[in-house]
Order: sequence, then structure tokens, then C-alpha cells
Amino acid sequence: MADFQGRSAIVTGGARGIGAAIVAELAKEHLGVVIADLLDHDGAALAADLAPNVIFRHLDVTDEDGWRRVIDDAEAEFGPLGVLVNNAGILDFGSIETQSPSLFRHVVDVNLYGSWLGMHLAVPRMRAAGSGAIVNISSTAGLTGYAGIGAYVASKWGLRGLTKAAAVELGSASIRVCSVHPGPIHTPMTAGMPDSVAAAQPLPRFGEPEEVAAMVRFLITEATFSTGSEFVLDGGATA
Ligand code: NAD
Repeated sequence: MADFQGRSAIVTGGARGIGAAIVAELAKEHLGVVIADLLDHDGAALAADLAPNVIFRHLDVTDEDGWRRVIDDAEAEFGPLGVLVNNAGILDFGSIETQSPSLFRHVVDVNLYGSWLGMHLAVPRMRAAGSGAIVNISSTAGLTGYAGIGAYVASKWGLRGLTKAAAVELGSASIRVCSVHPGPIHTPMTAGMPDSVAAAQPLPRFGEPEEVAAMVRFLITEATFSTGSEFVLDGGATA
């Protein structure tokens, strides 16, 4: 079992949905967790519920100075950075022909560049501390193609590739990097989607955020010989 006692963790997009479930799961492991999100009200409320080993810090994951502040605060509050979960993400709809160029860039900025920026700034701290675990929340959209969400698909394939590149680079520093690929999960992001989205899956239902969080906890605390791999939770959709 990986020992991150006395180390800090950062979960981006941790104020609600899958991220909030991951924060709660890591808090149970006695990690000091920073919720890093745009949603001040939700983030502060969740941190208050899970105090004292969870705090909230406002972060836009595309903001380099913001990342530096969050990492400094995490280490000052809870110890050397041990865990980073790049979970913040956005979904925008548009076909290749109709997607607005600025929204395409925005989706890739948040989902891919924001995750890279976090790794870029977190890895030197993990290297200094002697180990680390990074989990990047991709999607089944990082394993296959879907019509009408090309920006999202591109960003999630990019995040999967970045995971592999980082795993190859960082193994010798005892820093593990894996990607998680959920299918449809009940969160605010999928609130408008009908149940029929999941109907054709071998397990014909939406997943719950807690099911993703359990996988993320396993990757951080138990999967000590896994790096650069994809972990799929999709009710069998891509089987
Ligand atoms: P959600 O919309 O409920 O939560 C996303 C969180 O990310 C929000 O708290 C939001 O404020 C935060 N966020 C968005 N942009 C940000 C930014 N620039 N900086 C900081 N925080 C930001 O979504 P969710 O369903 O919980 O999704 C979490 C992750 O899981 C996303 O990366 C998403 O792509 C991925 N995912 C979700 C599903 C699903 O079905 N819900 C499936 C596959 C993958």
C-alpha cells in the first residue's frame, strides 16, 4: 500500500460531481486534501463538511499563478505534495462544422492544458518528496469517438496520451500516472441526459460518482505497480 501519510493531495474540480466524491474518498484515507475549483460556494461548503483535513482554494486550472498558489497552500497546510487528481473538465457540444473555434480552444484549454499545467508544476514537488501519484480523469471519449463532441473527444484522447508520456518519464522518480475513463455518471454535467444514453450498455444504467472515486482511491493507495494504464468504468460500453 502506498504511504501518503503526512502528504497533501489536490483534486481539481472537487467542489461537486465526481471530484467531490473523490475528495470525500481521499479524506477517509487521512490525506490532507485541497479542493481546487471555480465554484467558491460549493467548494467551501464541502470543505467545511470534511474539515479539518480538507480545505478549499479557488482555482481556474488554466491559470499558472493560481496553480502555484494552490500547490504552495497545499504543502503549507498538509505537507509535501503526494497526490494530484486532474478531474476538472467541461463538455461542449458541436460538430466539426458547427463548433465555435473559441469554444473548441476553451474545452482543450481546460481539459488538457489545465491538466498538463498542474502536472508541470506538481511534479517537481513530488520529485523533491521522493514519490507521487497522479490520476487524470479522462473518459470513454478518450478511448473511442463520439459524434457532436469533437473538442471533448480530442481533449480526453490528449489527456490519455499525456498520461502515458508522463508515466514513461516519471517512473524512475517513483511517480505513477494513470488515467480513468468513466462512461455516463450521474453528475451535474450529465443532468440533461436521458436514461436512454446508458440503455445499450451491458450494465444499462448511469454510474455513480462514488464508483469512480473508489477506483481513484485504489489507484492512489493500492495500485503500486500500475503506471501509464487506462482504468475503465463504463458499464461495459466499450467491451
Ligand atoms: P461536473 O460539471 O459536475 O463537475 C466539474 C467540476 O469541474 C465543477 O466543479 C467545475 O466547477 C470544475 N471546473 C470546470 N472548469 C474548471 C476550471 N477551469 N478550473 C477549475 N475547475 C473547473 O462534471 P463531472 O461529471 O463531475 O466531471 C468530472 C470529470 O469527469 C470531468 O473531467 C469530466 O469530463 C469527466 N467525466 C465525466 C463523465 C460523466 O458522465 N459525468 C464521464 C466521463 C468523464
